[in-house]
Order: sequence, then structure tokens, then C-alpha cells
Amino acid sequence: METSDIPGDLTEILLTEQEISDKIQELARRIEADYTDDRPLLVGVLKGAVMVMADLARALKIHIDMDWMAVSSYGRGTQSSGVVRILKDLDSDLTGRHVLIVEDIIDSGLTLSWLKANLETRGAASVEICALLRKPDAAKVDVEVRYVGFDIPNAFVVGYGLDYAETYRNLKAVAILAPHVYE
Ligand code: IMP
Repeated sequence: METSDIPGDLTEILLTEQEISDKIQELARRIEADYTDDRPLLVGVLKGAVMVMADLARALKIHIDMDWMAVSSYGRGTQSSGVVRILKDLDSDLTGRHVLIVEDIIDSGLTLSWLKANLETRGAASVEICALLRKPDAAKVDVEVRYVGFDIPNAFVVGYGLDYAETYRNLKAVAILAPHVYE
């Protein structure tokens, strides 16, 4: 879906399909350079990270493994609850693995700091984070995100995997959702 298909639902286009694609390539080059000796296990956080994972995995010129987790975060609202619950766990054994968590966005950082700590307890050799988007509040939490695509303003955004009530995930760009949609 293009932004022009739903003009009334969006107030601002933050990132175009091309800008996202260029950034994914840039992140892939950095990741390849850091994982020359160890085949990384990319862990995608469902459902928002599906697009980032699909594009990042294909951009990488090294062998990788992929696995998925689902954790609860926002439900139908636009505020983080702070309560993290595993809805679907990994299939992989993390012992000795170099894990790279792939996320769409880091907002309060609550989900990722919890997830990183959780995966570290499972015997992983390393756990790093790649997030395409980061909001300002993420700075308040003590979670190191090694690979960040874009720092964006503190607005509710949709597209490229990010949803509002399960809608807009298939939008190719990342855009600010018009308040009339959720107010
Ligand atoms: P955090 O725990 O506050 O960092 O929230 C992380 C999760 O909240 C992300 O994986 C998204 O699913 C969701 N989220 C945070 N900000 C947005 C947004 O602007 N649009 C859509 N989903 C968001």
C-alpha cells in the first residue's frame, strides 16, 4: 500500500520506501562486518518486525539463522503497558549463539530491555539489538541498541510492519497516523 492510497489517515510521511531500503542496506553492511566469524541468529519480534526482518535478512551477504518471538506490548491502544508476556517463544536453543534481536521500533524501551535480559539468561554468547526506528523516550531506559536505523519524533507512527489495531502494517512508508483515526 502507498501513502497516496490512504491520504486522509496520515499527517506526515516520515520515511519513504527508498529511504528505508537505503538504511536497511547500510545496517546490513555494518552487521556483516561485525559477524564475520559467527553465524548470527536473527530473532524477529512478531508481528511488527516482519518487514525489517524480511528486508534485512535478504540484504545480508552472510549466512544467518532466523527465529521468531511474539510478546505482548500495546494491544489496541497507543501507550506501552510495561507488561511483557511471551505469546510465542523461540524454537532455537540459544546456547553459545550470537543473537541479534530485530525490532521495528523502540519506544519506551521496556519490551526490548526485558527481552534482551530474558535471552541473555538462556546461555547466548552475545545478544545485540537492531531497531529500525527509535523514539526519544528510549534514552530513558538503560538498553543498548547497537544498530539503529532512524531516530524519529515522539509521534504514533504506522507502516512498514507497524500497526494501529492491526491496520497499516502493509504501508510501504513510515508515516504519522492522523489523531482522528485513534481519538
Ligand atoms: P516499547 O516497549 O515502548 O519500546 O514498545 C515497543 C513496541 O510498541 C513496538 O515493538 C511496537 O509494537 C509498539 N510501538 C511503539 N511505538 C509505536 C508506534 O509509534 N506505532 C506502532 N507501534 C508502536
